[in-house]
Amino acid sequence: MLDVMNPETKFALDAVHQAALLVRQVQVEMVTPALTKDDRSPVTVADFASQAWVSHLLSKSFPNDPLVAEEDAAELRPAEGADTLEQVTKFVRRLIPEAAPESVCDWIDYGGEDVAARYWTLDPIDGTKGFLRGDQYAVALALVVDGQVQIGVLGCPHLSDAYRPDFGGPGSLVIGARGQGAWTTSIESPGDFARLEVSRISDASQARILRSVESGHTNVGQIDQFALALGAQAEPVRLDSQAKYAVLAAGGGELYLRLLSPSRTDYREKIWDQAAGSLILEEAGGKISDLSGKRLDFTPGRSLINNRGVLASNELLHSAAIQALRQVGA
Ligand code: AMP
Ligand code: MG
Repeated sequence: MLDVMNPETKFALDAVHQAALLVRQVQVEMVTPALTKDDRSPVTVADFASQAWVSHLLSKSFPNDPLVAEEDAAELRPAEGADTLEQVTKFVRRLIPEAAPESVCDWIDYGGEDVAARYWTLDPIDGTKGFLRGDQYAVALALVVDGQVQIGVLGCPHLSDAYRPDFGGPGSLVIGARGQGAWTTSIESPGDFARLEVSRISDASQARILRSVESGHTNVGQIDQFALALGAQAEPVRLDSQAKYAVLAAGGGELYLRLLSPSRTDYREKIWDQAAGSLILEEAGGKISDLSGKRLDFTPGRSLINNRGVLASNELLHSAAIQALRQVGA
């Protein structure tokens, strides 16, 4: 069972729940039809507000724990950043009424720590393109102790039962706690947690493959070759953010590939992009490794420099997928 009274679990659920509601509100208020295609200001404001809030709550809840988070306040501190900072502060005040621009910057920079024996890692908005398009995005927070993810929480404001009956609409909180399983609850009224389990499909021809929407974050041609080598029939399903891990954990797919983009073969995954989702998947009975089958190493720093890409599965299809990856030279 999930121990929701555990202090770390309680903090992580509360932090991500409030952050997810806040960023959803930024989206409702700022992503309007008048927004030009290149205007990224809503996601910038939401990203910073989410990180400021989670940092603030962590500093109150576990003042000795370092936070390794994606953003920093460098662009907000100079005069040119004042308008954005004002907007960020306006949203942060909905959760922390006493927030001032200076303290908001300090909270954001609280996330500039290095990995340690025990640390938290945060992606304040994973799937920024999905956020702007109105597709999937997630707030992702994880606790890593001695290289093992202990708690992973995703707040997915658009993840609903369109993907799996387990996800009640219109948004989901998803948690994995080591040894306690993977669970989901509604973002509107968290409380009743439903357990997540991966799909039992072991026939490769029936495998549903998940991939990024952004073709620059993977290798689309190689995914098609992979599907052919594996014998998978269905078209890959495209989703933004770590919502893919939640869908896999709920049995809404069998495989998820992060192949190396041909234009960025040196790219190494970031810890905040993988930690929370990886535990949710494992606790639902799935398996995660890099493309060669190596376990993900969350110890060396902000990037997973000891790994190349990611393969995530329902476990049953993992070794067949590794074989197919070798066949296509991934
Ligand atoms: P997705 O939603 O699956 O497209 O993944 C989003 C994440 O991809 C972002 O949070 C980025 O940190 C990460 N990303 C950025 N560039 C790359 C790249 N070249 N290859 C893989 N992932 C990337
Ligand atoms: Mg991200």
